[in-house]
Order: sequence, then structure tokens, then C-alpha cells
Amino acid sequence: MSETILELKSVERHFIQGTDRLTILNGAAFTLKSGEMVALAAPSGAGKSTLLHIAGLLEQPDGGDVVINGRSCAALPDDERTAIRRSEIGFVYQFHHLLPEFTALENVMMPQLISGLGPADARERAGQLLAYMKLEKRMEHRPAELSGGEQQRVAIARAVANAPLVLLADEPTGNLDPTTASYVFDALEALVRQSGLAALIATHNEQLAARMDRQVTLSEGQLVEVGGAQ
Ligand code: ADP
Repeated sequence: MSETILELKSVERHFIQGTDRLTILNGAAFTLKSGEMVALAAPSGAGKSTLLHIAGLLEQPDGGDVVINGRSCAALPDDERTAIRRSEIGFVYQFHHLLPEFTALENVMMPQLISGLGPADARERAGQLLAYMKLEKRMEHRPAELSGGEQQRVAIARAVANAPLVLLADEPTGNLDPTTASYVFDALEALVRQSGLAALIATHNEQLAARMDRQVTLSEGQLVEVGGAQ
């Protein structure tokens, strides 16, 4: 049996804009198990990024809880939330956010060095991950010398460099042409399936969403299941 790695419990998020109070998440509930890939597809402005930020402990909910690997996180102090985020959660964004002055290898080493791994071990793991992403010939290239699809594959390798339990991705292929998007998704899917990560991936790409185990959307501030595996 796979275990629940991420659980959102009655998550609330409101924003005040002028005199208006925007309710973005209104009792959102969700569970994600290890090895599971779930697509989050909802119109722009529905609250996907907000939800991912809350699930990834980047933002505090106004109510409810985020439980990661059995640990309730909503009431934890900032430093503990940051520690959990660094060790348990990987993020991939629409734009790669790689550090331009460092090579692909160094970009993937960076989170490991920050979390205290020695350079030799970090280099070895970064090399393995980049090889897994079929980037063994691009390790010494800087981001500007890589194609969009290659940059995203480096960003995925970096996101999982510290062997997180949860991968959160916000339109990871949104900036790529359909063929490249499919290729990058293949690499992401292989990684999730092989590592037992739990992945929640916001995407507008219906073909990619259909390849995931479940599809959810946001409706009136709640997460609603829209389909399962065929
Ligand atoms: P999506 O990712 O689905 O496009 P977002 O989560 O980015 O949606 O935003 C959801 C809504 O919340 C939008 O209407 C956005 O303007 C609003 N919003 C997001 N962050 C803030 C903020 N910090 N302050 C005020 N409104 C915000």
C-alpha cells in the first residue's frame, strides 16, 4: 500500500484587495500518495499557484492544515517549515530559475551543498540525476547554452536533488512547444515512477494531464476530482 505523503485539510486562503475580500481556497482538501502523479488543471486565476505554495510550505494558509509525511505543518515556526520544505519538497516552475553563472551540474549540486552534503557526494548525485535526465553531454553547460527543454530537465533534476518526498510543479512544460513538452514530461514521469515521489503538477496541457493517475480542478475554492486512470 502506498502511503499518504501530502494531505491538505480544510485549507483556507483569502486575499484582501482594496475593499474586496477574495476567497481563493475555501476548505480545500486533498491527499497525495507516494508514487502518485496528479494533474491540477484549472483556469488561470483559480488559485493553482496559491495552492502549490501552501502545499509546499512557501505560504501559510489562513485556516486548515498541511500534513507532510504525517507531520502537521500549519502551526510550526518558520524555521521548521523551511527545514521540512528543503528536505521533503521539490519545486519546478514554468521558468527554470536556474542560476545563470553556474553550469547544469553546479545548479543541481547547489541544493545538496546548502543542505550540508560534501562537494564530492553532491557532484556524484548531480551527475547521476542529469544522466537520468539524458543530459550527460550537457553537464558543463550554463543555462544560456541549453535549449528550453534541456533547461527544464536540469530544473527537474535540481528539484529532486535532495530526494524529496513531494514534487510540486507549476506549469513545468507551459513554456515549451508540444513535442519538447512531451519529452520533458516523459523524463519527469520516469523519475516519479522510479523514485516513488508523490507529484502534484499544475498543467493546462490536456494530453499530459490525461497521462497522470488522477486529475483534479479547483472549483469555488475546493479541490474536485475530475477523472481517474482509464
Ligand atoms: P492560478 O495559479 O490558478 O493562475 P493564483 O493562485 O496565481 O492562480 O491566483 C489566484 C487569485 O488570487 C488571483 O485572482 C490572484 O490575483 C489572487 N492572488 C494571488 N496572490 C495574491 C496576493 N498575494 N495578494 C492578492 N491577491 C492575490
